[in-house]
Amino acid sequence: IAPTPTVTLDNRFAREFPEMAVPWQADQARDPQLLVLNEALAADLGLDPAWLRTPEGVRLLVGDLVPDGATPVAQAYAGHQFGGFNPRLGDGRALLMGEFVDAEGRLRDLHLKGSGRTPFARGGADGLAVVGPMLREYVVSEAMQALGVPTTRSLAVVATGRPVRRETVLPGAVLARVASSHLRVGSFQYARATGDVDLLRRLAGSAIARHHPAAADAQHPHRALFEAVAAAQASLVGQWMLLGFIHGVMNTDNMTISGETIDYGPCAFMEAFDPATVYSSIDHGGRYAYGNQPLAAEWNLARFAEALLPLLADEQEQAVAIATESLGTFRREYNAAWLAGMRAKLGLPEGLDDEVATALLDELLPLLQAGHVDHTSFFRRLGTAAHGDAEPTRLLFLDLAGIDGWLERWRALGPDADTMNRVNPVYIPRNHLVEEALTAATDGDLDPLERLLDAVSRPYEERPGLERYAAPAPQDFGTYRTFC
Ligand code: AMP
Ligand code: MG
Ligand code: MG
Repeated sequence: IAPTPTVTLDNRFAREFPEMAVPWQADQARDPQLLVLNEALAADLGLDPAWLRTPEGVRLLVGDLVPDGATPVAQAYAGHQFGGFNPRLGDGRALLMGEFVDAEGRLRDLHLKGSGRTPFARGGADGLAVVGPMLREYVVSEAMQALGVPTTRSLAVVATGRPVRRETVLPGAVLARVASSHLRVGSFQYARATGDVDLLRRLAGSAIARHHPAAADAQHPHRALFEAVAAAQASLVGQWMLLGFIHGVMNTDNMTISGETIDYGPCAFMEAFDPATVYSSIDHGGRYAYGNQPLAAEWNLARFAEALLPLLADEQEQAVAIATESLGTFRREYNAAWLAGMRAKLGLPEGLDDEVATALLDELLPLLQAGHVDHTSFFRRLGTAAHGDAEPTRLLFLDLAGIDGWLERWRALGPDADTMNRVNPVYIPRNHLVEEALTAATDGDLDPLERLLDAVSRPYEERPGLERYAAPAPQDFGTYRTFC
């Protein structure tokens, strides 16, 4: 039977950037089983969810069915990993299947992760992915979407039926993900490292057209591109910080030009407030600790600016001057985004001086840290304290004198609970619940995953019966470590 022509994929990236695209084929999945399908997303994308559930549809989701017009490719990119530069990383276990136009007319990438070794796979890397981490990306990216944070989306996770050797043998899986593009800081570093300025220019042109079209009309479009990316990242990382999200591996190949969160590997949400929080098992030095994320983003943007230097001015010295000045926009925009977000989290009135808000925060954060207070619970409960009942908030602290004094000063400013409840979630993907769902799914039980997805898909709406999804990990959960 001929495949239902539900999907047409373009091969735009493969056509426009053959230097950065290696045509490649996904491994055939032995016994593909659809574990989870994002029906709402499929519909938004103009894909028929019922068809995606058919054997033909599942073949598309693992890269076995290549629609007409598509040229699946492994993308080349470079990147700084934990500070060390690698000029040739690329998709070692992923493929860009192609681009399509979604129901709103926007161009989107369909991308697979875990689809087999490509020519970019290094050393003994097997090109595969396992069920647990692919489901983590699915749950956390969908939670981020529901929280209002720019992110790549997860369309489906399909178990391949192939055992994958890790520390133990685990079931293999492929994640189908959708992004507004897979252009990264590392893509520009790759182009720059080739020494091909024409390639770099074309890449910048494509990024402007696709993500930051206003830059095309600027006096200096490449400078405007840089500043637009810096602004998008300032806003993005600001939102991460406000929610307590820790990406875990902010290498330059994991930072998008679009401003979407990408590559959910060892990510996790912070529970007890502490800037030094690290969950990733590979982040030994704490480079990507919660509190370092704005600095890591700025560092990455400096690498982006370096990659763009040949486009910023003919004279190196002048290019560096422009880059330096433009990089300065990040810190200002990040600080403004964070402060505005924190003001909303505290429900502070519009007219209040920033100095007053800042002083209040300077007092609050040490209290949260000293008391090991759960970040998400604190801000949500504080909404209840705005108009009366401060007890649920006080219960989170040992230093009652400290929090009582703070609450009194805060309440005198007239905080607005409605504003607070719109920005302070009840439900985030709690680490212990993510682990519980992933473990069950690995053993074939998808119920905990579905219940967790239901909770985090409406994060601001408190619902009866979901108390367990609003609580931090029990003591006996111990120290959390994430693996990718
Ligand atoms: P990440 O930090 O997960 O974004 O990956 C960094 C690099 O390692 C990318 O080039 C990936 O394609 C590659 N990589 C990660 N895991 C594997 C794997 N199992 N097989 C091949 N390449 C991999
Ligand atoms: Mg990556
Ligand atoms: Mg990856």
